[in-house]
Amino acid sequence: MGRIRTVFFILSGAVLAACGGGSEHTAPGATELPAAETAKTDSPAVAAVDAARLSNAAADLDNWLSYGRSYAEQRYSPLDQINDENIDELGLAWAVELDTNRGQEATPLIIDGVMYVSTAWSKVMALNAASGEVLWRFDPENIGAKAAHACCDVVNRGVAVWNGKIYVGTIDGRLIALAAATGRKVWETITVDQEKPYTITMAPRAVKGKIIIGNSGAELGVRGYVSAYDAETGDLVWRFYTVPGDPADGPDDAASDEALAELALPTWHGEWWTLGGGGTVWDSVVYDEAFDQLLVGVGNGAPWNHRYRSEGKGDNLFLSSILALNPDTGAYKWHYQASPGDTWDYTNTQQITLADLEIDGEMRKVLMQAPKNGFFYVIDRENGKLISAEPYVYQNWAERIDLETGRPVETPNARYTDGPQMVLPGGIGGHAWQPMSYNPDTGLVYIPAMTVPLVYEHNENYEVHYGRWNTGVTFTDPPETPELRGDVDARRAQMRALQKGYLIAWDPVAQEPRWTVEREWPWNGGTLTTGGNLIFQGTPHGAFEARAADNGKLLWSFQSHRGIMAGPATYRVEGEQYVAVMGGYGGSMGMATPDERNRYTPPNGLLMAFKLDGDATLPTYEPVPRPDPAPSDETFSDAQLQTGQDKYFTYCAICHNGPTNPDLDRTPYMQDAGAWEAIVIDGALEDSGMASFRDYLSTDESEAIRAYVNTLARDLAEREGGAQ
Ligand code: CA
Repeated sequence: MGRIRTVFFILSGAVLAACGGGSEHTAPGATELPAAETAKTDSPAVAAVDAARLSNAAADLDNWLSYGRSYAEQRYSPLDQINDENIDELGLAWAVELDTNRGQEATPLIIDGVMYVSTAWSKVMALNAASGEVLWRFDPENIGAKAAHACCDVVNRGVAVWNGKIYVGTIDGRLIALAAATGRKVWETITVDQEKPYTITMAPRAVKGKIIIGNSGAELGVRGYVSAYDAETGDLVWRFYTVPGDPADGPDDAASDEALAELALPTWHGEWWTLGGGGTVWDSVVYDEAFDQLLVGVGNGAPWNHRYRSEGKGDNLFLSSILALNPDTGAYKWHYQASPGDTWDYTNTQQITLADLEIDGEMRKVLMQAPKNGFFYVIDRENGKLISAEPYVYQNWAERIDLETGRPVETPNARYTDGPQMVLPGGIGGHAWQPMSYNPDTGLVYIPAMTVPLVYEHNENYEVHYGRWNTGVTFTDPPETPELRGDVDARRAQMRALQKGYLIAWDPVAQEPRWTVEREWPWNGGTLTTGGNLIFQGTPHGAFEARAADNGKLLWSFQSHRGIMAGPATYRVEGEQYVAVMGGYGGSMGMATPDERNRYTPPNGLLMAFKLDGDATLPTYEPVPRPDPAPSDETFSDAQLQTGQDKYFTYCAICHNGPTNPDLDRTPYMQDAGAWEAIVIDGALEDSGMASFRDYLSTDESEAIRAYVNTLARDLAEREGGAQ
């Protein structure tokens, strides 16, 4: 007890700022409304959004009614009051500081002058969209320790609206309906087995009186599915599992039963169900009105390595696929699988965008997707047939996609069955969740893309770590390849140099780039495009930029001092156009990729809105340097350090290697064996999202990690010319 108190005492001091929001997720909820707001009733006249309004969303210039603006998810607004001629007059209209520096990924909804937005820890707020005045806040009071099940920070990508209610999925797996007028909870339902490592970060979608929601957690050991709930009552209407369960358990009595038995089951081998199989639906769901079908993007397998998941055999349907389902019943219509037998973490959960494109003189109703595997796909929505697929970033795992079969022709050793292989894209993908946009005026798709190679090696010693990262892959040094030559240091440097980010303006008909902006750092923000010949995009180093949509010329830039990853939105209030975006670095790169330029603790996130002649100012930014590394002078045994290194990379690095969460090589706890054990084993910081690792680590192993972290801190101190 005394030990735990010590931890909290330290936490309440300087360390709190470095803890990425720490226990702040239990901050004020919807119960603490301003008096004027509590008097309001849950009037359905507020946010009265029905099927007709959602159907007309693309032409509704004032509003942004669903995650990707309209069902087609083009993230294009015809608004042109702000345009390439007057963009230099764009200024900050208002900014609201958020309660944490954890990642912010949401695209706000704007409905009749009110903005509804989710923030880290699946909180929701409503604001006056013209002034930024906060109307209400809602805190779902998540199970804090579920943060350890979130692969890529406690982010949330947005809310949905239907008939006076706002819907949010929570990091601990619930779907919650709120009265749009007051933020009062109308209903909530648990959509996952909370004992399992499921989380939710995606924006729900409202379709025909139902709320569609999936979940995340493939790496940690879950079975993916997508569910539809009655928007009024929260009752489950249907569920579609994306991968088969244990055949011994029989059918699930779900919408997926027939498709799994007939199509999917024959493509699986071994005992995949022990780790759930993966296939989570964690981001993209699109309602395709033209064919009355729901298009669902399905994620990677669990574990990544096909040899462990399915004895190296079979396509493993419906992993890495797009599924078309009947929105009323969940019944299967068709599927397209981009990466059969995925073994690289090649998800197809990336944004799905619908458009009418003229291809070979014929108008086609297509879907477009730039999934992780590096190919840009144009698919006929009527039947799921592939029209074209070309690489939008450099990739080396496939010679091409065969248009007859729709299947990739893989390159030799792409599956690392014959020794380690550097593969591009690596598991982070050529494109992640950051939304792309399509501008029908330019005919271009604006993709926040990246190249991040990864060296995959079959892990001979893989053991299942249920609830932690399961890849079955050893991430190793780059072998000699045509791209990488010389000694290991030279090859590492060459591999690092391959890491780049790109804003790509892609012509989906010609299947080639029209122009590209190269960025030094891979992770870059979601895009918005407008009728004013503009694209808006954030960068991880704080800039919010506008470019000409036709030629990519940089026209305007605003420094926010926060990495901006989220998709921007635009809307109009009383005839005035605004552009809004969330600032707050996070996601997998914010968690797990050290960026030497981030020498300062990230400040709390911001919700910002811009308009012509806006003259608001940001809250003062005072950079807070990260704490100096302060290793203890204890000596540790080689065996301890070896164990510590292994366990550090198995359990710690995935969340503690980037700028968002506390740097373990700077934490003062490394000096204090008691405090360390209280946190790592006893779960003293569980409410802040640092779960107990008692189920995974012995106290000796925890102590070995502390030993290794001290050596990391000594190295860091040396590099920074510090105390050592
Ligand atoms: Ca994944």
